[in-house]
Amino acid sequence: MLQPDVELTGITKHFGSVVAVDNVSFAIPRGDFFSLLGPSGCGKTTIMRMISGFEQPTRGTIEIAGQNMSGKKPYERPTNLVFQHLSLFPHMSVAQNIAFGLEMKRTSRTETDRQVARMLELVHLADYGQRKISQLSGGQKQRVAIARALVNAPAVLLLDEPLGALDLKLREQMQLELKRIQREVGTTFIYVTHDQKEAITMSDKIAVVNHGRIEQMDSAVEIYENPKTAFVANFIGETNLLEGNLSLVNGSAATVSLPGVDIRAALNFKAAKGTGVSLSVRPESLVMGQGATSATNRLNTRIEDIVYLGSMAHYRLVSQEGLRFTAEVTQKAMAELPVRGETVLIGWEPEDGRLFETRQAAA
Ligand code: ATP
Repeated sequence: MLQPDVELTGITKHFGSVVAVDNVSFAIPRGDFFSLLGPSGCGKTTIMRMISGFEQPTRGTIEIAGQNMSGKKPYERPTNLVFQHLSLFPHMSVAQNIAFGLEMKRTSRTETDRQVARMLELVHLADYGQRKISQLSGGQKQRVAIARALVNAPAVLLLDEPLGALDLKLREQMQLELKRIQREVGTTFIYVTHDQKEAITMSDKIAVVNHGRIEQMDSAVEIYENPKTAFVANFIGETNLLEGNLSLVNGSAATVSLPGVDIRAALNFKAAKGTGVSLSVRPESLVMGQGATSATNRLNTRIEDIVYLGSMAHYRLVSQEGLRFTAEVTQKAMAELPVRGETVLIGWEPEDGRLFETRQAAA
C-alpha cells in the first residue's frame, strides 16, 4: 500500500460506561474514497469526531499525513468536516460563503477570487456565485458546503451523512457528483453513512461498523459477494438468515439442520459437526415455482405477501416448518407464479448459501 494518509491504531472511545468505539484500526491511502458504514449508534460519528479533533480518544493513536494528531485542536489538523446540517451563512452569497475560509487566512483578494471561481466550476455552480444561500435548492446548498470545505485544501475531507436531508433522486445524483469531485481533486474522502447503496456507489473501500467495532473492511464488491460475518451479509443488501447446526460435515459439503428440515450447504471454513451456524441465502438466489423442482434444496412455502419494486417484486414466504424467506422475482416471471395466499415451491443450490459460525461445537 502507498504511504497511508490517515491511520488509526487501536482507537477506543468510552463515554462513561458506554464503549462507543472499541479498538478500531485502519489505514487509508492518499486519494481514496473510504466509507464508514453501519447502523445508527454503531460509533461512526464518534470515529469522525476523533479524526477531526472534536473528540479525544480514550486510547489509541491517529496519524494524518504521517503526523501524530494527539492533542491537536480541530483547526490545527489538515481536515475539514461537512455535515448533513450545513452551517452555511444564509445572508451571504454563494461566493462569499466559499471565500470565508480563505479570508480568515488573509489570502489576497486576487487569489481568493481565483480559488472561488475554481471551486464554483468544480461543483458546477459557475453561474451561481452571486446568489444568496436562501435562493438555492437542497442539492445546490450541499455543493456550496463541499466547495467551502475543499477551498481550504484539506488533506482529508470528512463527510458525515452529508446527503441525508435530500430526497432519493437528488441523493443519487449527488452521490455521482461527489465521486466525480473526489476524483478531480484527489483529496482523501472519509464518508459516514448508514445507507449501504450509497457506500457501494461511491467507495473505494468500506469499513462496516457494528457496536463500535469494524466487522469487515474491503472493497464494495468483496463486501457484497464475500461477507465475512452474518451481520455484514444482512446489512449489505437483503438476505435470508436461517439459524441451525451442522449435522454432517464432509470436506466442504455440509448438511445444516434447521428447525424441521435439513439443508445442504457449502462450507468455506473449518468446522465440526454440531457447530452453530447462520445460513445466508440472497433473495435473488431463490428459484420459485416450476424451476425449483430440480433444485438440491427445496421447500414448500405459502405466499404471505408480494411487494412490488418496479421491475422486480419481493415475495414474502413462510415454509411449512415456519421458516421465513424473501425471494426476488422479475416482473416478467411473476405471470407464471401463484398469487398471494397460495403455495409455491422454492429451491436453491448448496453453493448459493453462505455459512457463518455462530457457536462452536460442544467438545
Ligand atoms: P448515527 O448514525 O445515529 O449518527 P453513529 O453510528 O454515528 O450513529 P455515534 O454517534 O458515534 O453513532 O454514537 C455511538 C454510541 O456512543 C451511541 O451509543 C451513542 O449513544 C454514544 N454517544 C455518542 N456521543 C456521546 C456522548 N457525547 N456522550 C455519551 N454517549 C455518547
